[in-house]
Amino acid sequence: MKYRNVYLDNGATTMVDPKVMEVMLPYYTKKFGNASSGHHFGDEARQGMEKARKIIASSIGANTDEIVFTSGGTESNNFAIKSIACTNKEKGNHIITSKIDHDCVLNSCRWLETQGFKVTFMDVDKEGFITPEALEEAITPETILVSIIHGNNEIGTIQDLKALGEVCRKHGVYFHTDACQSYTKTELNMKTMPVNLMTLNAHKIHGPKGVGALYIRKGTEIKSWQDGGGQEDNLRSGTENIHGIVGFGESVKQAMNQKHRDYMTRLRDKLIDGILKEVPDVRLNGPKGDKRLCNNINLSFLGVEGEALGGYLDQKGICSSTGSACSTHNLEPSHVIMALGRTHEEANGTIRLTLSRFTSEEDIDYTLEVLPGIVKKLRKISPIGRLTNYVLRENA
Ligand SMILES: *Cc1c(COP(=O)(O)O)cnc(C)c1O
Repeated sequence: MKYRNVYLDNGATTMVDPKVMEVMLPYYTKKFGNASSGHHFGDEARQGMEKARKIIASSIGANTDEIVFTSGGTESNNFAIKSIACTNKEKGNHIITSKIDHDCVLNSCRWLETQGFKVTFMDVDKEGFITPEALEEAITPETILVSIIHGNNEIGTIQDLKALGEVCRKHGVYFHTDACQSYTKTELNMKTMPVNLMTLNAHKIHGPKGVGALYIRKGTEIKSWQDGGGQEDNLRSGTENIHGIVGFGESVKQAMNQKHRDYMTRLRDKLIDGILKEVPDVRLNGPKGDKRLCNNINLSFLGVEGEALGGYLDQKGICSSTGSACSTHNLEPSHVIMALGRTHEEANGTIRLTLSRFTSEEDIDYTLEVLPGIVKKLRKISPIGRLTNYVLRENA
């Protein structure tokens, strides 16, 4: 078996599409103007930015004046949650999110707790879903904002935005969703989805890092979070990242294609089915089928340390991840896997494999050849593998 470099960590970040790179390059050198300048260099920068805004707005059924560019998903989530809470605090002091949201959402909510807000961190079911009924139960007269992740970055669960949004609308509560992982991979239509704010970013969809957007529905009461020159209609001051924004627009243009979704879905299911067939005692975390992100696989291998499995896969050229990339510096089991009701041991045996439209059939075949052998070897040698056998025998 020949060594092969296989990148299966597209949930952490993706390669910049060469076509995106090509569109960005002139904005570093020839068209380097500041969009606030009145001269023709400024015009050029502004035109590039507004073209990108149009592409992004139309990709989600929004108006151009409902798109605010930011430095990425983290900033958009911080901006949406903290700013909506602080702008609307006369209406109430209660925020709702889920136990499986991204750390930048959870930690924004925890910061709001230090400012006197009350936060409900909702439980999810075994596949990571929040039901509209459970959401309705969590809403109180004090609730001003619900923030729930759309496509989960670890387990791929896609929430029903329409159903959850309708509950929020019925109760007059703002609904924000983090759609960094689902953007371009699922239909997002603000004309039919009752969503007030939505976080998007570029580097998960073959665009550059350090650029994102916040969709803000017209009429939403929100104040700027950052003081300065009043860019982005007074909502986000700071000189715009023109080359990044131009690249973001092009990455959306390239990614919005059903063919890419179908391709990733087929490879995803081939890899899932292949592993489940070859390896015993494996659990798929998150749902199967079309309620799962088309590029996400998350598996718990009983009796295996996820970190060790990831390390051995890396030696063979295969990049995977344990937990989310943003929190791999701590060895706590993933808060998302634990929220599914898994045991510590299952959570520790978890790896995530995330594909992209640049993943090849050969990449999948190679992974299917390599992975089962590594799991077998680890189960033989690892202390927790032996311990599991022991515990299982004790319980038998
Ligand atoms: C990557 C990611 C973020 C953070 O976005 P950055 O642009 O890296 O700041 C937030 N939420 C989700 C779901 C993500 O996947």
